[in-house]
Amino acid sequence: MTTVRVALPVPLRQLFDYKIEPNHNAQIGCRVLVPFGSRKLVGIVWQLAPEDSFTASRLKTILQVLDSQPVLPPQLCQLLSFAADYYHYPLGEVLISALPALLREGRELTSFQPKAWQLTEAGRQLDAATLKRAPKQLALWQALAQHRLSESLMLQQFGRPAAKQLLDKGLAEEVCVPATPFTPPEATATGLKLTADQAMAVAAVNQACGRFERLLLEGVTGSGKTEVYLQSIAGLLNAGKQVLLIVPEIGLTPQTLARFQARFDVPVLCWHSALSDGERLHCWLQASSGAAAIVIGTRSALFLPFYQLGLVIIDEEHDQSLKQQDGFRYHARDLAIKRCAIQHCPILLGSATPSLESLHNALSKKFIHLPLPDRAAGQALPSFTLVDLKQQVLQFGLAGQTLTQIRAELAKGLQVMLFLNRRGFAPALSCQECGWLTECHRCSAFTTYHKQSRQLVCHHCGASKAIPRQCGGCGSTQLKPLGQGTEQLEESLQQLFPDTAITRLDRDSTRRKGALNEALSDIHQHGARLIVGTQMLAKGHHFPNVSLVVIVDVDGALYSSDFRAPEQLGQLLTQVAGRAGRGSSGGKVLLQTHYPQHSLLQDIIQNGYAAFARTALQEREMTRLPPYQFLAMFSAEAHQSELCQSWLQQLATIAADNTALQILGPIPAPLERRAGKYRWQLQLYSPNRPALHQMLDIMLAQLTLWPHSRKVKWQLDVDPTDL
Ligand code: ADP
Ligand code: ZN
Ligand code: ZN
Repeated sequence: MTTVRVALPVPLRQLFDYKIEPNHNAQIGCRVLVPFGSRKLVGIVWQLAPEDSFTASRLKTILQVLDSQPVLPPQLCQLLSFAADYYHYPLGEVLISALPALLREGRELTSFQPKAWQLTEAGRQLDAATLKRAPKQLALWQALAQHRLSESLMLQQFGRPAAKQLLDKGLAEEVCVPATPFTPPEATATGLKLTADQAMAVAAVNQACGRFERLLLEGVTGSGKTEVYLQSIAGLLNAGKQVLLIVPEIGLTPQTLARFQARFDVPVLCWHSALSDGERLHCWLQASSGAAAIVIGTRSALFLPFYQLGLVIIDEEHDQSLKQQDGFRYHARDLAIKRCAIQHCPILLGSATPSLESLHNALSKKFIHLPLPDRAAGQALPSFTLVDLKQQVLQFGLAGQTLTQIRAELAKGLQVMLFLNRRGFAPALSCQECGWLTECHRCSAFTTYHKQSRQLVCHHCGASKAIPRQCGGCGSTQLKPLGQGTEQLEESLQQLFPDTAITRLDRDSTRRKGALNEALSDIHQHGARLIVGTQMLAKGHHFPNVSLVVIVDVDGALYSSDFRAPEQLGQLLTQVAGRAGRGSSGGKVLLQTHYPQHSLLQDIIQNGYAAFARTALQEREMTRLPPYQFLAMFSAEAHQSELCQSWLQQLATIAADNTALQILGPIPAPLERRAGKYRWQLQLYSPNRPALHQMLDIMLAQLTLWPHSRKVKWQLDVDPTDL
């Protein structure tokens, strides 16, 4: 009898030993079903231990080995093991989270693989005469003697009874036929004639194929990054290599999918959270067998078990959605880089507004830097105009100058986009008599007024309630919306422009399945139109008829405590502005603000993101912030504020004498209370990554021993992006 060490999806940072029957063959990376307390859990075999009859006699036995081949191949195991170490997250949870739900539940892989029917040895030896009284069975037997039949074809042609008869007699059997790797495309649609910069980028990617290399494509909006992706992968597909493209939003997958399918005659698959469990498993199997040539997916696509991965592309590599913000808080860009290192293949990061981390790596020559400073078809980049809102009479939050320009563009038959990063009708309801505001009783936040759904909704904890008739302070019935959200902007525009079609794009308007695609195709219909939306509008869309972008209000974002806020605002403004003038007509951007002199706005507008980002990097260097130091953050949540504070304080004491570290906190989180719980954080900075991680290990080992650690809900975030 042998023992195996199994990783289980439990919050304990250890492996568990089990006995295994000698006739069971469990390889590393296979799933097993094991008894755990009173439960049965699906785990992953992580190590095979030599026979040790003394300890083995005290161990429980594995109930079932679920796979004959590892579901996590060795290179993926290596990546996940690295990730568990780096993010200090329990290995078993990391391994299991990398599997599709149906496999996590312990379902057998073979039951999802395509089936075929064939004759058994006895079937092949059979004398045809024995079946002459059963013509259906005879016909099936004759067909199977020629070749295997897929299950569906067989049922259709010969029916289930005949098949069952042959099966019962032991003459035929059902076997799994794993999919086979894709066939390299016979023909590839010709691409656009590349600009010199694009051609250099494609050449650099081609040169990097077959080895680990990191490339940053820093291409302004509309510079033709997608064309670079398309032409870079042609050679890989011809060589039978698979390509993974990671995109930030589900909403972008259908458009991108269509573009890749039109170019290459190979299977292109999607991977994202809106797929059903069955569809996800299908994609997983196709990636694993090599049948999928290209997978376009959101961040967790990075864990697909590719058969022969040749290149990973991360589009919009600066996007915050690449970081998982709860549980196993990994960064998809950073793990994708590690994955490519393990698989010896290149990774191409693309963005008009690269993260300061990637930019730093490019400028310090760790990454190959591929700039595309101009728009592909020669259009000018949109020009910014600041609209000073001070001492102006506004109509529904819009300045006179803004309205004049909107009218002018619509009159030319062009489209105008209005960006406002607040969904709902208004950020709060306010009492006209005493100034009382509708607040969430569970969070330190106001509740957003949603007029269409007639609710007050907290955007932090999701709680919703009916609209009050009276003020909670003085009882007055004079409650009015305070401030403006996209729902209100849409309604106001309808009054101002009654004859113009309006499309609103935000999380509320696109909740229904298919609604986003309908809205996008509406926009792509030609003709004058107003488009209202949140940051959903900023991401990667190509709307050729938008000639004017109005940034209605970003003032709230100018004064934030998060050191990443300026970077994120710079990215957002540049991306939103980048939707303007992508067609033949030029593009203009109006930025409404009460702070036209603000240095950040001035810098972005006058110098552009590229220059702004380089200055921002210098500031990070001077203030010793990431990427010039490494950062990790513990956060604690509890019903009592003091509990969080004292728990984090005790944690801080462990690290207090470590000279390699700077400790900030405990401090209250920016949103101090959420869903009824107080939230505090402790930030650890160090220029020395190994020293930081060593300290995290020490802290984790200690805190798990403290009984009161169970009274707070704590988390560790390595390289946090949201402070
Ligand atoms: P990005 O992703 O960099 O914002 P896209 O890849 O969406 O830009 O390209 C913007 C537009 O430029 C698209 O309409 C695309 O067809 C066009 N384009 C890209 N490359 C070229 C080229 N070499 N010549 C002409 N047009 C191009
Ligand atoms: Zn009141
Ligand atoms: Zn709330």
